[in-house]
Parts: sequence; structure tokens; C-alpha cells
Amino acid sequence: MFTAFLIKYAEIGVKGKNRYLFEDALVRQIKYALKKCEGSFAVRKTDGRIYVDALSEFDFDETVAGLQKVFGISGICPVVYVEDEGFEKLGETVVRYIRDVYSDRHKTFKVAARRARKNYPLNSMEINMEMGGIILDAYPEMSVDVHRPDILLNIEIRDKIYIYSEIIPGPGGMPVGTGGKAMLLLSGGIDSPVAGWMIAKRGVKIDAVYFHAPPYTSERAKQKVVDLARKVAAYTGPIYLHVINFTDIQLYIYDKCPHEELTIIMRRYMMRIAEHIARETECLGLITGESIGQVASQTMHSLMATNEVCQLPVYRPLIGFDKMDIVDISEKINTYETSILPYEDCCTIFVAKHPVTKPNLNIIRKHEKNLSEKIDELVQRALDTDELIIVQ
Ligand code: ATP
Ligand code: MG
Repeated sequence: MFTAFLIKYAEIGVKGKNRYLFEDALVRQIKYALKKCEGSFAVRKTDGRIYVDALSEFDFDETVAGLQKVFGISGICPVVYVEDEGFEKLGETVVRYIRDVYSDRHKTFKVAARRARKNYPLNSMEINMEMGGIILDAYPEMSVDVHRPDILLNIEIRDKIYIYSEIIPGPGGMPVGTGGKAMLLLSGGIDSPVAGWMIAKRGVKIDAVYFHAPPYTSERAKQKVVDLARKVAAYTGPIYLHVINFTDIQLYIYDKCPHEELTIIMRRYMMRIAEHIARETECLGLITGESIGQVASQTMHSLMATNEVCQLPVYRPLIGFDKMDIVDISEKINTYETSILPYEDCCTIFVAKHPVTKPNLNIIRKHEKNLSEKIDELVQRALDTDELIIVQ
């Protein structure tokens, strides 16, 4: 029965001359999300509002689920359009609308008419009154409440007449693309996809880098990361995923540095390489899934040691989150199932029995000097063999 959706978005940050940027980005992201849904749609900006019109048959639930992945949408209102065939016909349509949408009609309601086309014979007040009467006649179990109605029935007189009353919550946030771009360090774990999702929700476009260590990490481990990127891309739009071959660097560190410092030094090289790619691709920051205290490499001391090698800001949206809360989000965004697949991770392979939890920066720097002979060359080779996968 519904033929369109009115898209509601938060007004915050949308005022003034940035408004059209926000709206254009929202329209673009809506189109991207709908491409994955059955049916064909037109997305239009009219009178400071965004509408999605269905041009063919479509699957209502799938379409709503698609729109619920578009950051910047605060509410999705399914709309019925009817031609203006006089007020009497409109009354019949509204009565039918209420019957179809509300099986239980023991509810209060209020009619909110809006006359965008001023030549309509009744004004808004008159429409409210008359339509209220028609609804009460049809459904005596309903009653009017103008202050806090269960059902706010919107009737908008435009080129056609729009009827809507339901608001399905959207994901909130800002449209991706309004906030610059950042480089996500994406592993196969639970945390980093959630971290990327959270930053994207603030309007930031996401690129990603994955450190792969064949043959210690398998093709399947890499495929898992691609799959995770795809799940995040359902919200963000296409993700440029850089796969960096990290094996030689890891082996070299393993060979030259104390094993209990391996993870920290390795993480420092990950950050350096990620930052290098970020700068080349116009990213304005890095994103990781780190959370204080989760593992030895995420104590305050370790984070300080990892952070030291970066000049770009490092965004760690999960920094104060408990694992349980992160898991909740990963279930909600549908990455959890993939994240828990048991493929090896490059960090766990060479991991020491007793990694340092309070690395001393001076000592770490000193031990990194052991790498001076070959590390620049290895890093350069890793960058040169960057495999770019565009994940949609
Ligand atoms: P995750 O669940 O995101 O893998 P984790 O709890 O396993 O995190 P670590 O392995 O210490 O934590 O990694 C911390 C962060 O470093 C990750 O959230 C991710 O951003 C980044 N990271 C770790 N390993 C890789 C990798 N192989 N490729 C890219 N980024 C990585
Ligand atoms: Mg991990």
C-alpha cells in the first residue's frame, strides 16, 4: 500500500550554507543503500525534505532495513500518495489507511493537515476538523487527543496528497561523506569493524588497511577481513581496503627484538604504515578498535608507545567500552558472526607468553634500532606491494 518514504533527519548541524552538502550526501547514501534492494526508486529533495518514491513493486521490510543503514536518517515515514479526487474520496482513503495500518484501533489520534497547495478548497484547520469527524464516525473506538496522540495522522496537500503516520527509527548520525575520510586498521576481530562503524556514523568516509602475514595467516583469514569490510560497507558505502603483506617485517622484528616487546613494536610498524597510506589517500586520521586494558598491547603504557609513532590523530571510539558492549554493537551491525570465525590473526602467531604490559618508551626505541639495517627497505616493499581491494 505504501508508495513512498518521507525521510526525516536531525536538524543539528544542518543549518545555513552547509545544509545542501548534508542533504546531497544523504541523498547519495540513500541511493547507494537502495541499490541493494529489490525494486526501483527515485530519491528527490523537495521543499526541504527528502522523499524516496517507489517506481515499481518493492519489498517493504527490505527497503526499510536498507534505509536504516543510512547514517543521517533519524526517521523513516512510510507514505501513501493519492490523487486529489475531492475531499469525500480522501476521507474514504484515510479510513481505509487506518484500517490497513492499525489492526487495533483503541487509540487516540490527531489529524495534522498541511496545505502546501493553497488552492485546495479547505484550509488546514478545516481539514483537521472534518477528517477527525470522518474517522470518529468510521471508528467509534478511536478518540481525539490533540496533545499526546497515539497516532499523528499527517495529511499533506501537494501535487498529490500524502498520508503518513508511522515513524520508523533510523540510525541517526551524519551522512557518510560530510566529515572527511579516515583510515581504519581493520583486523579480523570483533572490535575494529565496530570502531569503523562508529566513526562512519559521524559522517566520516572509511578506508581500511589490513596487515596480512602469509603463510602464517591464511587466505581464509584475509577473506574474513574482506567479508567484514563488506558488512561495514553496507553502512558506509564502498571501502578501499589495502592489504599489506606484513610477514617479512614481522619475521625481522621477531629475529631482532626481545620477544616480549614484539607485539608493541609490531603495532608501531602497523601504525606507521597505516599513517603512510592514510596520508597518500587524503585520510585525516586513523581509527583502531583499541580499548583500555583489553589486552597487554592496550594498557595505557602500551597505547602511549603505539601512539607515539603517529602524527595524524588516532581515533579510538571504543576506548572506554567493555567487551560486552562492543559485542552488543557488533551483533546489531551484523559483524559478530564473521568476527568470531576462528582464523588466525597475525598478532597472535608470534605472540610472546609474557608480553610487556608497561613498555618503556626508551627501551622500545632502543630495540627498534636493532632493525635499522633492513626495516626501511622492508616497509617500502610492503607499501609497494599494497593490494587494493574495493569492497562494496
Ligand atoms: P580486534 O578485535 O579489532 O582485532 P583486538 O582486541 O584483537 O582488536 P589487537 O589485536 O590488539 O586487539 O589490535 C588492536 C587494534 O589494532 C585492532 O582493533 C585493529 O584496529 C588493529 N589491528 C590489529 N591487528 C591488525 C591487522 N592484522 N590488520 C589491521 N589492523 C590490525
Ligand atoms: Mg585482533
